[in-house]
Amino acid sequence: MPLEIVRNDITKMSVDAIVNAANTTLLGGGGVDGAIHRAAGPQLLEECRTLHGCQTGEAKITRGYRLPCKYVIHTAGPIWQDGHHGERELLTACYRNSLELADKYHCESVAFPLISSGVYGYPKAQALKVAMDTITQFLLDHDMTVYIVVFSKDAFEVSSKLFKRGIDMTAVKWGNNENASGGMVRCVGSIVEGIDRETAGVINKDIKAQKFKAKVQIEQDKLRVSSASRDTLQEVIAFVKSKDYGQPLQFENYR
Ligand code: ADP
Repeated sequence: MPLEIVRNDITKMSVDAIVNAANTTLLGGGGVDGAIHRAAGPQLLEECRTLHGCQTGEAKITRGYRLPCKYVIHTAGPIWQDGHHGERELLTACYRNSLELADKYHCESVAFPLISSGVYGYPKAQALKVAMDTITQFLLDHDMTVYIVVFSKDAFEVSSKLFKRGIDMTAVKWGNNENASGGMVRCVGSIVEGIDRETAGVINKDIKAQKFKAKVQIEQDKLRVSSASRDTLQEVIAFVKSKDYGQPLQFENYR
């Protein structure tokens, strides 16, 4: 049941789908929407024109074009008024509908920005709580890796505080790897660093054959293993360590 909060620019995320906090016209805007369109190139807008907008809470999907992701899921978040105008329900619908669409398109990894928390004014801590609650609920019966991508330092700090209170936060990492330019909070996760794709593929297969309750993902020169249980994670690592893959492996274990 992996849910991770990372500090990054969402246009840099190598996942199956990134979610765009769009407006109802789907014809482009500022903030994360502008960044996504700039990085994807003009074909994204062309495809968006064919979709005829998106109501608040709904989600629509396009290809990712020049982005490192396969798809962009566009959802229109609610504009914050005072919290008594159905904002929470609409924001929940954004996450839920986006996740369902991702599932329909067989996405195994999805990255969300903090929808509505920019120009639309939804208080960041509350926006994050809605995101976490909705995603966690969805992951109870779906096999997917979901990232909440927070952009600013203050949003990231809010997220670590929430994590400390609510969820078992295992670590905060500040670093410079390509997929997380800032920091990273993970429920439970481990990365095997510096392996070539072929070896990563072999290890991936070996782990899968053991039927561990863990998810393995190949990312560039990394193998990411995550699991809801720390013990499972340690078992997976011990298993990989016990085998000889013809090259030294570096393990980064976040717990
Ligand atoms: P909204 O109109 O739904 O509020 P915004 O784009 O104004 O959408 O902001 C949504 C959130 O996305 C804000 O928290 C903002 O800091 C964040 N954000 C802006 N640019 C990026 C980016 N490139 N990657 C990830 N998050 C971003």
